[in-house]
Amino acid sequence: MGGWRKSLDPVPCSLYVPSMAAANASPRAQRSAILQSPLRELTGFYLAVDCLAPGCGGERRFAVAELADFYRGRTVGDVLRLMRCSGGCGGRAEAAWLETGPILNARVRPRRVALRGPEARG
Ligand SMILES: [Zn+2]
Repeated sequence: MGGWRKSLDPVPCSLYVPSMAAANASPRAQRSAILQSPLRELTGFYLAVDCLAPGCGGERRFAVAELADFYRGRTVGDVLRLMRCSGGCGGRAEAAWLETGPILNARVRPRRVALRGPEARG
């Protein structure tokens, strides 16, 4: 009751599902829609990336808004191609997910869409 009004977090209206990736779209269609989206359309989301190198830093999470400041008009797909692991191996983002990030409303489960890697098949 009143949970929404208490939150001061900026909440884009498209928080739960990117507007161009409808919840009932196929995983492949959602993935390609997200990869073709400019970062600035997905601020409020988080990008999780993993170089998948054994013994390396593992999964890391970036606020899309911060990536958008750095990469400007690039799309999610561009950025995944440009990013390199700073944890030591210098590898590419072999696995990546778009996440809803920390959610203020506990009734909504975080969503994550696999963009690359073993989960991003089909
Ligand atoms: Zn690495």
